[in-house]
Amino acid sequence: MGSEAESGSREPLSRIVHAIRARERFVLSSHARPDGDSIGAQLALAHALRRLGKSADIVNRDAPPASLESLPGADSIEVAGEVTGAYDAAIVLECSSLDRTEVAGLERHFLVNIDHHTGNRMYGALNWYDPSAAAVAEMVHDLVAALGVPLTPPIAIPLYAGILTDTGSFRHANITRRTFDICSRVAASGVDVAAVAAAIYQSGTMGRLKLTAALVDAMRLAAGDRVALLRVDDALLRDTGCPADDMDGLINLPLSAREVQAVVMIKALDGTTRVSLRSKGEIDVRSVAVSFGGGGHRNAAGFSLDGERAEVEARIVEAVAAAVEASAGPPAASEPADG
Ligand code: AMP
Ligand code: MN
Repeated sequence: MGSEAESGSREPLSRIVHAIRARERFVLSSHARPDGDSIGAQLALAHALRRLGKSADIVNRDAPPASLESLPGADSIEVAGEVTGAYDAAIVLECSSLDRTEVAGLERHFLVNIDHHTGNRMYGALNWYDPSAAAVAEMVHDLVAALGVPLTPPIAIPLYAGILTDTGSFRHANITRRTFDICSRVAASGVDVAAVAAAIYQSGTMGRLKLTAALVDAMRLAAGDRVALLRVDDALLRDTGCPADDMDGLINLPLSAREVQAVVMIKALDGTTRVSLRSKGEIDVRSVAVSFGGGGHRNAAGFSLDGERAEVEARIVEAVAAAVEASAGPPAASEPADG
């Protein structure tokens, strides 16, 4: 198949196929606070394993966000901080390091690491790392094909959800020909792709809409309007009625303005502070996240913070402004000369 090309070395993939064929009981996991790609990749692979007559449990630190609850199989995800069952292998998807799962006990198993995040730590007995994949769902598509499992809707729907969300609804620079090749196969499998998008993007809570308004209203701008800062905390969620798991994608709002080149979103929730970064084009916010102990991709990255708020916030905005500066060239190229 043409879709098997362009994904780096096929060697890890064939080793994983052999390892799966030789084993029966699998546990799948992914990162805490899962997103569309982590949920989609896990659901698709679990279904494919079951089609092969194997057992597959999914154990995640946190429940899927509300927007993904309707994906086929989502109700079978077990939410726990530890795996206790007996398994022949643990397959960890979408995690640059094992601790991103926040699930204990995975390390006691034969570990398979399937990921696309820059800086993957190669923590598995088998590691398949493909930073050219727009989503881990693309990799799982190839794995399912290599296992000889047909692309039926319970597999194709979650794969499509993973690709749709990890490409920012087909807007990000991570998209390749392979992305559309796979989506073409998804469409051919009979999936109603518009219905998948509607379930994810048009089924949010009223609280989310109200939070959207509040966030934009309180947005701060820095670096000549090129960096936007959003802040959400427990009180704001309570006041707007937005569930904590229904905020996915709100960080992208400021990027709709032409001036804004990068967004910092500070989420002080439940006693922990996490920071998400987004950027346009060549602007590298991953390196900013790495400098604060986190990671991610060039245009979408994040990290956790403890303590000392205001001072750190200023440093983050400064670092992001520097990243914008570093890639933007002359800042006001479109300004009139007489300004
Ligand atoms: P988020 O802003 O939480 O949606 O994350 C954006 C991207 O950054 C995702 O690819 C995450 O996997 C990655 N990321 C977020 N937080 C961390 C972290 N603490 N360490 C490593 N990668 C992270
Ligand atoms: Mn991903």
